[in-house]
Amino acid sequence: MLRTFFILVVFSISLFSLDNSEILKRANSYMKTGSKSDQFLAYNDYKNLYLRSIMSLDEKLRKDSLKGIVKSGIALHIDISQYQEELSNLKIKTTYNNPASKPLKKSGGAKNIVLKSSHKLKSINWLNKDKIVLKFDKKLQKNQINYFTLYDEKNKKYRYIFDIHASMLTKSQTLRKDGVKRIRIAQYKPNTLRFVIENSKKLKIKFNKNSNSLTIHIITKITKTKAVNHVQIGLNRDKIIVIDAGHGGKDPGAVGYRKYREKIVVLKIAKHLESFLTTRGYKVYMTRDKDKYIELSNRTAFANKKKADLFISIHANAVGKKNAHKVHGIECYFLSPSRSKRAERVAAKENSAYVSEMNMYGKQNFLKFLNHAKTTASHKLAIDLQRGMLGSLNKHYKGVKDGGVREGPFWVLVGAQMPAVLVEVGFLTHPIEAKRLVNDNYRKTIAKGMANGIDRYFRNNR
Ligand SMILES: [Zn+2]
Repeated sequence: MLRTFFILVVFSISLFSLDNSEILKRANSYMKTGSKSDQFLAYNDYKNLYLRSIMSLDEKLRKDSLKGIVKSGIALHIDISQYQEELSNLKIKTTYNNPASKPLKKSGGAKNIVLKSSHKLKSINWLNKDKIVLKFDKKLQKNQINYFTLYDEKNKKYRYIFDIHASMLTKSQTLRKDGVKRIRIAQYKPNTLRFVIENSKKLKIKFNKNSNSLTIHIITKITKTKAVNHVQIGLNRDKIIVIDAGHGGKDPGAVGYRKYREKIVVLKIAKHLESFLTTRGYKVYMTRDKDKYIELSNRTAFANKKKADLFISIHANAVGKKNAHKVHGIECYFLSPSRSKRAERVAAKENSAYVSEMNMYGKQNFLKFLNHAKTTASHKLAIDLQRGMLGSLNKHYKGVKDGGVREGPFWVLVGAQMPAVLVEVGFLTHPIEAKRLVNDNYRKTIAKGMANGIDRYFRNNR
């Protein structure tokens, strides 16, 4: 916990009892008051909706939330240029005549829709027996392709999914390959092509975007030899990750239900994450691997020294008794020079707790350490981590709450020279969540989700 009650209580309580359209309505009404603090509330709502839209592949919501982020961000003087860019890309590509945008079940459904997506699929060809090349009529943009994997444990089904912002003019197609159960491409939404590879055994999928084509490499035999691969994807081996289990030693962090202590819970999760990542080929360092006190600034300094590619700080949260039964959920934070009054207040609280370190950097100046590219990368990482954790947990646990991706001037992340994220794995004060957080299966599941998120991050940001 990083003394973030103030924000958490305000934002977490009501958010997930509301559905998307209610939140959108609320955010829009905040924007009408003209007050800065309302605009900040709206900004956070839009950000949360944006994350949901990505997770649910809801294009309309994505557009609405992006519009909101841009509008509120401008009002708050927050740099929202990346969202603005994404929105303008969307506007160009999503003019179609069917506002309902229902997923098309079968190829026959495409008849009624006039597609005006700027990208069209021209051909699908096997390059050799392992590689499929999808050719489009125009150069593909990076954010046009969304790759993710799903595992259906009950039916033992692995699904590797590419959602491509484009349209196909022909019917859906099924492709065949030895050792793969099913490969199919179809118009999933009026502006989204979905390419799905399905199998009962794990496959290795690599892909490569090159101008107007997307090459998908399906590897059925997963060998452990380090084959030299000209596709150059999945280069986990080069990546260094520093995992930071929050608190430790004299600093117990949050103390919650039945006196469960944050420093213990987060260290266990950190160790599971270390083991998952090591297995997947990453080089991993831990700021602490036992119950030891470490100054905050030494944690990021350690990551800088190790030349880490990512810094992940793991924490657990808490609220006062009054709200203990209400507030729960998982949140990811990234450091951002948010200039709102509210963020400044949280920063001030953080800083008062670490006076000695404050002097080192200088009280008002720490936001100067922020760099825009890093903030954007951290934001992306936070989204991938959040999505990974929820995806993994939702397979096995009910009622896991998505507290969203948030930003703020968090002290532990200041000074990191690489994308850095702070994960709040849940509330130790919430009876159910606390019981889960002391259960090792739950901890393993959440750590696995983080590892999936990290994989995803590196797949998309190389
Ligand atoms: Zn903490």
